[in-house]
Amino acid sequence: MSWPKTASTVIIGGGVVGCSIAYHLARRGERDVVVIERDAVGSGTTSKAAGGIRSQFPTETEIRFSLEAIAVFERFREEFGVDVGYRTIGYLFLVSDEADLRGFRERITLQRRLGVDVREIAPAEAKAIVPALRVDDLIAAVWGPTDGMAGPAEVTNGFARRARELGVTIVEGVEVTAITLAHGRAAGVVTTHGPVSAPLVINAAGPAAARVAGLAGVAIPVHPRRRHIFYTEPFPEIPGPVPLTTDRATGFYFRKEMEQLLLSPGDVEDIGEDFTVPIDRGRIDETVEKALHRIPVVEKARIAGGWAGLRPLTPDDHAIIGWAPGVDGFFLAVGFGGHGFQHSPATGRYVAEWLLDGKASLDLSLFDPARFTRGATVRDDRGADAE
Ligand SMILES: Cc1cc2nc3c(=O)[nH]c(=O)nc-3n(C[C@H](O)[C@H](O)[C@H](O)COP(=O)(O)OP(=O)(O)OC[C@H]3O[C@@H](n4cnc5c(N)ncnc54)[C@H](O)[C@@H]3O)c2cc1C
Repeated sequence: MSWPKTASTVIIGGGVVGCSIAYHLARRGERDVVVIERDAVGSGTTSKAAGGIRSQFPTETEIRFSLEAIAVFERFREEFGVDVGYRTIGYLFLVSDEADLRGFRERITLQRRLGVDVREIAPAEAKAIVPALRVDDLIAAVWGPTDGMAGPAEVTNGFARRARELGVTIVEGVEVTAITLAHGRAAGVVTTHGPVSAPLVINAAGPAAARVAGLAGVAIPVHPRRRHIFYTEPFPEIPGPVPLTTDRATGFYFRKEMEQLLLSPGDVEDIGEDFTVPIDRGRIDETVEKALHRIPVVEKARIAGGWAGLRPLTPDDHAIIGWAPGVDGFFLAVGFGGHGFQHSPATGRYVAEWLLDGKASLDLSLFDPARFTRGATVRDDRGADAE
């Protein structure tokens, strides 16, 4: 490989976020952008995503990110020449708690003001959408018919391929082991293949973001937490399409994938890892138990397999986007939790604007990296932890 000794920008991490930023920088004319990926493009937590896309977020900024994502996924084929399997299957939240419903109602007001088609419906209406549901213990459901899904691998490869066509160098199988600092600012990276000097280094390292920030002496609260998804053998008893349906009481969610059902227990577990994610087969029993309660017909299904991934969570459940506190030239695009796939198109666009124009055209203060030093350590809303 011809090694890029210098770059205008080094992006650490070739997941969906790093590739989107690379593409958007190159599309805006930035030259000599280098993405460094320790494994293969899209092989990180992006490869574990359920592909869900929802506008049901608790803040205006995140709702706007989602609306932009939907617009991009709708025209992805024209722009990138790739079919990402975008489909509006809807998101359905099943609610059995009054306080939870009050939170949903507040968010629905905001979402509808921003043009999102989302509504509270009765349990019987939820059953009309997914007849297999047990609804006698629900007090309401929340339905977003325009929410949907697409393929994370296809989207990532679309960004990466177009970025390469526009001159971006993406190196795979190379790990960043140090961030070079000079006079308090980033000056490049050291890798397992050699150094690259660059005045701008972007951390897009997904679940490993805290470790990578630490290479520059920056502490950020990105906590990798394991979540499982299991799938059944073909299961015609629940015909598709099935919306991404979340049982708020237990965190369990499911949707149809081709002929199979995808089932997640909604687990959130610290396994002390930020790369490797073993499957805990003990989670199958928990998943089946939660599934049987909500969709009893699942007793006829057989689990055929599953996977686990790390969601890069932050204390308030919002991403971290902006300059790293204390180190000039070091930018953070991390902490996307369970929604980094769907927010990758908007992240790429606004980060490129910020870096090239000095300011993003949307207010991104929600994601301010410095907010945690001001005490934003508690989740300030109970938005949907859906994926
Ligand atoms: C079970 C599960 C379901 C999910 N479902 C959804 C969903 O439905 N919708 C949704 O929007 N999101 C979902 N997510 C979340 C989504 O997967 C992530 O938010 C998103 O993929 C983050 O992308 P990323 O590019 O930041 O991280 P990654 O894809 O992890 O990319 C970071 C890359 O950095 C590389 N890297 C790390 N350290 C170094 C280093 N030192 N040197 C070089 N390279 C390095 C890694 O190898 C990795 O490829 C889900 C996540 C899980 C686990």
